[in-house]
Order: sequence, then C-alpha cells, then structure tokens
Amino acid sequence: MLVVMQAHATEEQVRAVCQKIESLGYRAHPMPGAQRTAVCVTGNKGEVEAGTLEELPGVQELIRVSKPYKLVSRDFKEENSVISFPGTDASFGGSGLAIIAGPCAIESRDQAFAAAERVCRAGAQFFRGGAYKPRTSPYSFQGLEEEGLQIMAAVRDKFGMKIVTEAIDKESLKLVAQYADVIQIGARNMQNFSLLKCAGRARRPVLLKRGMSATLEEFLMAAEYVMSEGNYNVILCERGVRTFADHTRNTLDLSLVPAVQRLSHLPIIVDPSHGTGKRNKVTPLSRAAVAVGADGLIVEVHPEPDKALSDGMQSLYPDQFDELMAQVRQIAPVVGRTVPGIGVRTRLSQAAPAIASPATRIS
Ligand code: PEP
Ligand code: MN
Repeated sequence: MLVVMQAHATEEQVRAVCQKIESLGYRAHPMPGAQRTAVCVTGNKGEVEAGTLEELPGVQELIRVSKPYKLVSRDFKEENSVISFPGTDASFGGSGLAIIAGPCAIESRDQAFAAAERVCRAGAQFFRGGAYKPRTSPYSFQGLEEEGLQIMAAVRDKFGMKIVTEAIDKESLKLVAQYADVIQIGARNMQNFSLLKCAGRARRPVLLKRGMSATLEEFLMAAEYVMSEGNYNVILCERGVRTFADHTRNTLDLSLVPAVQRLSHLPIIVDPSHGTGKRNKVTPLSRAAVAVGADGLIVEVHPEPDKALSDGMQSLYPDQFDELMAQVRQIAPVVGRTVPGIGVRTRLSQAAPAIASPATRIS
C-alpha cells in the first residue's frame, strides 16, 4: 500500500500518517519526491485497513501496490535515486558515472597500493578489493580479513577513493560496515535473506550483485529485503548469469539494465570482469554497458594479474584500464553521462574536477 500525500502536505502531516501506520502495527517508509511525498506501508500480512488513513489531513490517495516489490519500485519513487558521498564527486545514479576499480582480493599492502595508485590516476572514484572472499574451493585464498580492511582504509586515506568491499556473513558485515564506504553483497549471497536484513540495518550504502541464476524479480526482491529494513541506499549490479555459453565465464545480461530502469528507481552498475571472466572482453563490454545506460562499472585491475591469488584471468593490467577509461570517456557523452577526469582524486584537494555538463539522461 502506498499513501500518496498532497503536493502541499506539511512535514507534520506526513509524520502523523507515519505514526498512524506504525500504530496499526505496520512499518512506514516515507519517501519525499520532486512532486510529492509517498509513504509506503510494509509489514502487513493481509490488506491494510485503508479507512482511517484515507481520512488523515494531507492524504491525497491510497494506492494498492500489486507488484511484490514496493520500495524498489518506481511506483514508490518516480525519479532516479542518487546516492552521493558528501565532499566528493563520487555518486551512483547521477549524471556522472561511478567507476569502481581494483583487485579481486586484497593480497598485500604493496599489491593494493600499486593497484590503487593506477586506478586512482585513471579516474576511479571507488577502490574495490575483497578482504573476505567467497571461493568455490575451501583451499583457495580466502582473503586477509580484517587486515585487508585496514589496508583498504589506508588506501582511502592516501588516495581519497571511497572503499567498496564484500561482506560474506553477519560477522564480516559488522567489520566491513566499520571500515567500508559501500558494503558489497556478492552474487552467492543475493538470496541470503538474513544477511540482506542485516545489511538493511547497516548505515552504509549496499552494492547488491545479481545472483548467478536470479530472475529480474528475484533480484529486485533481494533489494527489497535491504530496503525493508530502512536502508534505502541500494545499488544494483549486473555481473553475468549462468547459461550454456562456454566462451565466457558467465553471460553478461546487459538487457537487465534498461529492464531494471523501467521498474525501479535504484541505480544499476555493471561488472564486466565477472560477467565475462576474460580479460580481453572486459573493455568491449564496458563500452557496451555505458552505452546501454548503466550508472557505472566495477572492474578488476591487478598490478600483476598473472600472479593474482584470485581472478587473474579477468583482471586488467593497469595500462589496459587506462585504455578502458579512455574509451568509456568517448562513449559516455553520447548517452549524456560524464566520467571523472584523469588523476582527479589526487587533485581534488586543490581544485574541483572539470566535468562536462550532462545532456539528457537515458532511462
Ligand atoms: C567480486 O566482486 O569479487 C565477486 C566475488 O563477485 P560476484 O559476487 O559477482 O561473483
Ligand atoms: Mn573476483
């Protein structure tokens, strides 16, 4: 159920509606929009008792939401959600593309700093790297755990990039939420509902990767889990799905991007590294992702991919990432998007980066 407030409804009236909803034993999620505020009602087992709500001052109408997802839906919020990081030019869902880059796993301080130096110089606003790695084999490198998080925090201090790293369970989520700017929930955990609920209670944006066989609806329902706990800062990520095709590790489903944008206000980025599993396909698919309207990219880059402890085959050499960024810079303006400039992070303290004015945003 959606309670749509009148355009001129006061904050007090919105608050009174929320209080009424809570007193009925439901949860209220107010979402101010450009035209009006809508309050989504969740937690109801059956139909919400509409009568009392309809009569409250400032209420325009009640809309029953027939879709299983509510908070992620454009019915709830018409305009695109933008997740920004105060004091920086980094954001998800605005006119600027979000560029996340770094190694699959944090292996050592030297490796992380070498990768960070290059991706930062190339323009990435976010540094990625796993400290907790969900590996297919228990004998593979599992990550440096808290030491890895400390290295990432040192990268943030030195380069000014925001930190994106994965939580694999409740314990790691607690620590990740302390160190990271964005909590990643991986494909293997997309339907780990108790972990999603915990992420929904964390006070950090959540980067939610699509499960490797998840439908669009299952993906949106996973985001709904996070939002239903009160964390509305969710970024979706297409990272490829399992198909019969064996020329790539996964099949990158770029059609998901416009499909999501039609139904949801949430930002969606693309991971061409896990999406293809092959280094030589990462740059072409990055171009395609930007062209199709993705809000950003997450790309694996390693200073020495041949020595990587995980996902070396799909990790770019730093020079290749420079080239990827150069190509993305050419595609982005065609679809009305901007890309952070070269070396912007290190210059941020001296001057604001020069960013071209956005044209129309495709959605
Ligand atoms: C990753 O980004 O390092 C990762 C493990 O990705 P995914 O969950 O998409 O496999
Ligand atoms: Mn990886």
